[in-house]
Amino acid sequence: MHISGTTTLLGLIGTPVAHSKSPAMYNHCFQKFGLDWAYLAFDVPAEQAGAAVEAIRTLHMRGANVTMPCKNAVIPYLDRLTPAAAAIQAVNTIVNEDGCLVGHNTDGCGYTQNLRRSGVEVAGKKIVLLGGGGAASAIAIQAALEGAAEISVFNLKDAFWPRVEQNLAAIAKAAPGCAITLHDLEDRAELKDAIARCDILSNATRVGMAPYEDQSNITDLTWFRPDLVVTDVVYAPPATKMLRQARQAGCKTCDGLGMLLCQGAEAFRLYSGLDMPVEEIRALLYA
Ligand code: NAD
Repeated sequence: MHISGTTTLLGLIGTPVAHSKSPAMYNHCFQKFGLDWAYLAFDVPAEQAGAAVEAIRTLHMRGANVTMPCKNAVIPYLDRLTPAAAAIQAVNTIVNEDGCLVGHNTDGCGYTQNLRRSGVEVAGKKIVLLGGGGAASAIAIQAALEGAAEISVFNLKDAFWPRVEQNLAAIAKAAPGCAITLHDLEDRAELKDAIARCDILSNATRVGMAPYEDQSNITDLTWFRPDLVVTDVVYAPPATKMLRQARQAGCKTCDGLGMLLCQGAEAFRLYSGLDMPVEEIRALLYA
C-alpha cells in the first residue's frame, strides 16, 4: 500500500477494535479502486468520543466507522444525523461532507440490502423481530422507513424491556406508516401465531452466538414453513442453529455475516460512491 503526502485518512473508533476486520476490508477496497485513502483502527473509549470526532475535523478525515461503546457518545459532536440514526440515537458511520459531519446508521441498510441480494424486499411485509437491542432497533427503523407493513418485536420481559418500549415508540414516531408492536418472547402461543402470519422471521438477539451457540429461540420446528424467509444478525458463527433449522425446513435464509458485509458496503458507498465487491470480501476475510 502506497501512503504519500496526499493520502486521506479514514478509521474505526470504539473499543475494543484490535480484532476488527474493517481495516483489511476497507484498505483492500481502496487499493482495488485506486483510492489514495488509508484506514486504521483507533481504540477510543466513550469518554473520548468527542475528541475523536474533533480529530476527524482537524485531520480532514473522509470519515469513520463507529463501534461500541461510542455509537451514542459521538452524537452530540456531529452536525447532522440521518432520520434512521436520529430515531435510534446510534451512529455507526460518520461522513465528512466538506467539514459537515453527518452521522449515519448503516446496520439497518445492511440488513435490508442483504435481503435484497436474495431477492426479498421488506416493503409491504410482515416481520417478526426477535430482540429489541441495538441491532434490532437498526433493523426496525430501516424496515419501517422502507415500507414494512408490520413489525412484531418479541423481547424477554427483563430489565431491558422499558428501554425497548422507548426505542420502539421513537421508531413508530419516525415511521408512522408501519404497525410496530412489542410482545413477551416467552409468550410462545403469541409468538407461534405471529410467525404463522409473518413473511420474515428475524433473530436480533444474542441467541446463536457464544455462549448461546447451541440455542435457538425457535424450539418447535413445525413453526418453519418453506415460504418463510428467516434471517439472523449473529455472524459468529454465520450458520446459527436457527438458520440451520430453517434451511432444513426449506426456508430461504440470510445470515448475519451478509448483513455485516452489506453494512460495510453501505458505509463504503457513502465514503466513495462506489460498490464494494461483497462476495470478494467475504471470500477474502471470512473463508
Ligand atoms: P444488545 O445488547 O443491544 O441487545 C441484545 C438483545 O438480545 C436484547 O434484545 C436482549 O433482550 C436479547 N437477549 C440477550 N440474551 C438473550 C437470551 N438468552 N435469550 C433471548 N434474548 C436474549 O446487542 P446488539 O448490539 O443488538 O447485538 C445483538 C447481536 O447482533 C449480537 O450477536 C451482535 O454481534 C449482532 N450484531 C450483528 C450485526 C451485523 O451486522 N450482522 C450488527 C450489530 C449487531
